[in-house]
Amino acid sequence: MTNAFSIDLEDWYHGIELPYSSWSQYERRLEVGHYKILELLDKYSVKATFFTLGWIADHYPDLIKEITSLGHELGSHSYSHEKVYNQSRDVFRQEIRRTKKTIEDLTGQKVISHRSPFFSITDKSLWALEILAQEGYEIDCSLSRIKTWRYGIDNCPDTIFNISEYDITEFPTTTFQIFNKNLNMGGAYFRIFPYSYTARGIKDRQQSGQYNMFYVHPWEYDPDHPKAKMEWKAKLTHYSRLKKMYPNTEQLFKDFDFGTVSAVIEDFKKQNKSIPHVSIEDLKD
Ligand SMILES: [Zn+2]
Repeated sequence: MTNAFSIDLEDWYHGIELPYSSWSQYERRLEVGHYKILELLDKYSVKATFFTLGWIADHYPDLIKEITSLGHELGSHSYSHEKVYNQSRDVFRQEIRRTKKTIEDLTGQKVISHRSPFFSITDKSLWALEILAQEGYEIDCSLSRIKTWRYGIDNCPDTIFNISEYDITEFPTTTFQIFNKNLNMGGAYFRIFPYSYTARGIKDRQQSGQYNMFYVHPWEYDPDHPKAKMEWKAKLTHYSRLKKMYPNTEQLFKDFDFGTVSAVIEDFKKQNKSIPHVSIEDLKD
């Protein structure tokens, strides 16, 4: 098992920069996309990792319990979907602590993994990794080697690795090259570019023994969700080719095997006698 399937469990208005204080005014549609993903996961017997907002866990407790009862893994996606580099250390700590406790109280299962909103652990917020370890998280999936206006760390290794200073394993986004373009595996990259690009990326990487992190969001499976006023850059990635998401994911499940983040890391540890260690200094720009 070399491919992890991860879902950032959030509604359409969380996936764009709309303030927390305004969330109550938007139409809630989480279940529309969420149940389409569950349908596909069930049809192809795939177990996945759902990184949920603490806010979602508070507002949809039965949906969270159902994810666990279906055998999927739950992780934290923060509480309020604020970018880490816009938060103080104390607020970051309170959010990941609150989300972990909320999920654990609902499911009775330990939460060990985390992904920050918008992959926002960057050069400016590497301090977050220490706090994650202190708060009992063992896995982080918040780093991206590709740099965009929202995220990215140039020096992020393209593999699963341990952070030398803290007891935490990092599973960054997977980057692949096609026609001299660097793409991430999942999300808008999966919708905007042809399916064959991602399929080729996975195939090539699998052949050379590399592990892959794939990510999606429920709102990507709900093409009819409302159009909010937002920055053009966000609009471009948020609404592009949403109708492709369901059929492309179905094809992905036909072509490749996927599992939870934890299961894939376990497999990596079994296959590779030693897990690479990377220090915080090495990650800095
Ligand atoms: Zn998110």
